[in-house]
Amino acid sequence: MTTVVESEEAGFTAVTDQPYMYVRKLLVEPDWRRYPGWAKVSASDWQDPQWQRAHSLKNIGQLRAVVGDLLDERFYADLAADQQQRATMSMLLPPQMLNTMAPQWDPERGALTELFYADPIRRYMLPVLSDRHPEWCSHPYAERDSLHESDMWVVEGLTHRYPTKVLAELLSTCPQYCGHCTRMDLIGNSTPTVSKTRLTLQPADRQRQMLDYLRATPTVRDVVVSGGDVGNVPWPRLESFVTQLLEIDTIRDIRLATKALAALPQHWLQSKVLDGVSRVARLAAERGVNLALHTHINHVQSVTPLVAAATRGLLDAGLRDVRNQGVLMRGVNATTEDLLDLCFALQGEANILPYYFYMCDMIPNAEHWRTPLWQAQQLQLSIMGYLPGFATPRVVCDVPFVGKRWVHQVVRYDQNLGISYWNKNYRTVLEGADGDALNRAYPYFDPIDTLPALGKAWWRKNGHHAWDTALSAAEIDSSAPAPVGGTVCESYGAAAGANGQQASGSPAGEPALIPLPLRNGRARNET
Ligand code: SF4
Repeated sequence: MTTVVESEEAGFTAVTDQPYMYVRKLLVEPDWRRYPGWAKVSASDWQDPQWQRAHSLKNIGQLRAVVGDLLDERFYADLAADQQQRATMSMLLPPQMLNTMAPQWDPERGALTELFYADPIRRYMLPVLSDRHPEWCSHPYAERDSLHESDMWVVEGLTHRYPTKVLAELLSTCPQYCGHCTRMDLIGNSTPTVSKTRLTLQPADRQRQMLDYLRATPTVRDVVVSGGDVGNVPWPRLESFVTQLLEIDTIRDIRLATKALAALPQHWLQSKVLDGVSRVARLAAERGVNLALHTHINHVQSVTPLVAAATRGLLDAGLRDVRNQGVLMRGVNATTEDLLDLCFALQGEANILPYYFYMCDMIPNAEHWRTPLWQAQQLQLSIMGYLPGFATPRVVCDVPFVGKRWVHQVVRYDQNLGISYWNKNYRTVLEGADGDALNRAYPYFDPIDTLPALGKAWWRKNGHHAWDTALSAAEIDSSAPAPVGGTVCESYGAAAGANGQQASGSPAGEPALIPLPLRNGRARNET
């Protein structure tokens, strides 16, 4: 808490104690030459996207070549153990991204190890075994493809999950791999613990089928062009795809998804790319289509002058907006200060609109990152009122089979067991003929290590059951602790049925708990 007292000459004291104190901070590019392996790297090499890609770190030997004995052997051993036993993503780290770890470290201060262990970027881009919880490393109901995106593919790579919106996965690679990637089922190379699913169609065939579906489906008006990361799609191919999207009259919003804006801004600063962006932006403007870029930045350390310059270039080229969808993670950004520092840097210094923070999804081995719902709710409340309203991000929970919900839209929440229940107001392609889809209560789960002792004990006893059995036990098991806190039962939208009627058999105001239509069952959490 900081106290600032204004001059008495002003006639009043305008600033009192605040939980968060905004102080403008200018962006800084950390000096990459502090690492022995990059001591002689020139500014022109650093700004060259080909140099960045060619020197991206793919293994521990390459990390050692850059950082050397500034990191203790125990760190390298911890990293190797994680890669062998737990990592769901392989290592791929552009120099730009590594350079944002421990930016305050000064070679005069000696060893880097402790700063590195504690660093928020390191904690999600370069996870080590000791980061993870020894008992509750995975939630019993964690799943590969936890959002069931591939179940909702209408053609390979095109997820139709919301009535008017689709996600087009053009490729399965990125210039960087994030430890918490929600598409760990598909994205990147296989790891010792995860054999990845593979796209089977040729890229040109996949794109043709996507475009055919969109031409034939005029109810879809919004396309997220993603992957992977569109920063890995050769620009002529991406431009061709976007241009063909713009020829479909019913498409009114197009969003290009790329974390490379932060991890490899050098890519988006290339004149051949910006010239291409300018061409499609002009076409979008002529057709009245909103063409924007969405990025994924989780911590203020990632927001550097190069990121701001790339954003400026994209906006000058004619994009309507550049927005950020971060992921809320313990040890990375799950404090009021971290979230607001990031948002002020994005909005005030880099022209990137803070838009969403997703709760980290329920993929395997992600429990140490995931936050309980109550914490996400508290964080949402704690960031209100500081940023401009239009730049105040929403904290959202992406509930399997439901979609994104603001964290306060939960309809029932048992904080002892860490089970929240949600409902929805539209059907996905999985539920076209399912009359009960809008009457269900869909469960979501807090990380078990955050529960009280009674809750942990309940999960030790029940976590091995299929989840409909376990949830029934939660409803009737007399050994279960009484639900507390959280949120009371309330009807929100479809909670009371599509036409406002109660779901049959449920108490007034409470949606029925109906087992979910699992297509792949619990086996999907077996990596
Ligand atoms: S950039 Fe996105 S798709 Fe790629 S690894 Fe990170 S979270 Fe996954």
